[in-house]
Amino acid sequence: MAKKYILALDQGTTSSRTVLFDDKGKICGIAQRETEQIYPEHGWVEQNAVEIYQSQLETMHKVIRENDIGFEDILSIGITNQRETTVVWNKKTGEPVYNAIVWQDVRTSKYCKELKKDATLKTYIQENTGLVIDSYFSATKVKWILDNVPKARKMAEKNELLFGTVDTWLLWNLTKGNVHATDYSNASRTMLYNIVKLDWDQHLLNKLEIPASMLPQVKSSNFHYGNFEFDNYKIPVTGIAGDQQAALFGQACFEKGEIKNTYGTGCFLLMNTGSKPKFSEHGLLTTIAWGLDGKIDYALEGSVFIAGAAIQWLRDGLQLIDNAKDSEYFAKQVKEDSSVYVVPAFAGLGAPYWDMDARGSIFGLTRDTGKNHLIKATLESLAYRSKDLIVSMEEDSGVRLTALKVDGGACANNYLMQFQADILDTPVERAEIIESTALGAAYLSGIGVGLWKKEDILKNRKIEKEFQPKMDESKRKKLYATWKKAVSRSMDWED
Ligand code: ADP
Repeated sequence: MAKKYILALDQGTTSSRTVLFDDKGKICGIAQRETEQIYPEHGWVEQNAVEIYQSQLETMHKVIRENDIGFEDILSIGITNQRETTVVWNKKTGEPVYNAIVWQDVRTSKYCKELKKDATLKTYIQENTGLVIDSYFSATKVKWILDNVPKARKMAEKNELLFGTVDTWLLWNLTKGNVHATDYSNASRTMLYNIVKLDWDQHLLNKLEIPASMLPQVKSSNFHYGNFEFDNYKIPVTGIAGDQQAALFGQACFEKGEIKNTYGTGCFLLMNTGSKPKFSEHGLLTTIAWGLDGKIDYALEGSVFIAGAAIQWLRDGLQLIDNAKDSEYFAKQVKEDSSVYVVPAFAGLGAPYWDMDARGSIFGLTRDTGKNHLIKATLESLAYRSKDLIVSMEEDSGVRLTALKVDGGACANNYLMQFQADILDTPVERAEIIESTALGAAYLSGIGVGLWKKEDILKNRKIEKEFQPKMDESKRKKLYATWKKAVSRSMDWED
């Protein structure tokens, strides 16, 4: 049989998955394994880096076995991954010197607060890495390992240690230690990469005392990084991108101004801003979307901390619904216009408000408010928060959105998608394949191996359902203005 499959390795925060795609970009199989989360102290989140690789390898073998094919049928491998998570390992033995420190880990937040006091550094970091100083990104995690793991700094200075985000760690293992590289999209999440000069930033490396010898080479997202060798087979690894950027690629947001929104536990919005970085006036991040044959596309990124998580709150906290899906049915029972507003600021509010002291609030309760109103208002809050970010992106980029491409678990909710289209006054397109992240990795890999071109991907994209805006302008304006009022009243609550 001719080789005709692509393996997309999707290494996420809670699980490793391998998705098998055929040469038409269709999903043929998925294998998944959960990975263990380790919480050694309050606010610390770690994973066993060896388990990350082993679980990934296991799912690769499993999906091949279950689909009755062999490695000889695999054309290429693509990787997409949880971003920012940091691994440091011994170059000779391949052993990690410490657990992987996960993006959610906040152990370095005190140090980040110190860094932020330096206004010049703060501006330098925004203008050169596109990011804000935060424990989320890899830079301070690497520094923490060098400062706290016995002998680590000495070894790093003797060029005995390597650093990588999860893509780099998987690639290094898949190639048996032959390749130490990453792609532009992952590099841009480290807070060490200069996204303007397209090089590691020596000023920041000096400031954080991180030896440049630890850092991976940075390549295009469709580069032929190396080969995975198994039995007598050599399978090229030809695609790498961080999860959100891969989803942007999977949604074929190739043109400036195109936005995808992933509705998961949180919402992740990315806008392609073209070949020049746009810096935000609204607290959004500037990041590299991908590099294709050396040509960079940039993106603006914003997230809603609590999105699907608010639906989980309806289910588990308030016990108003048995499962997330039922929220659609109950919301549709309310026939009149929205009068109740839920601001899901359970963990403060991110861009464009950036108020960590905001708290979740409910407004507009009257004697006849019932469970259905609360469910409807909570669903609508996902759409309002997404609109907040989209408006910011439009203002930062000067480009007006023409259609919103959606994926993620909660995009299955038709009520939410229709309301999103209405409140944006823009069509919402739900793709047929909502596994956009894995699809993006497969596409990059397929382009890298010469199977596809960007045009094939555009042709291949199928919309399962399009939601057209139906709300009249005065109503839309009134609803959104009331939302803004609700947000303003939820702010500055916590002392
Ligand atoms: P993640 O990748 O962040 O774990 P998923 O993309 O799997 O998230 O989506 C799961 C989230 O979406 C959950 O928070 C769940 O509450 C929400 N969700 C799933 N289905 C629906 C639905 N039909 N309507 C509303 N929310 C939903």
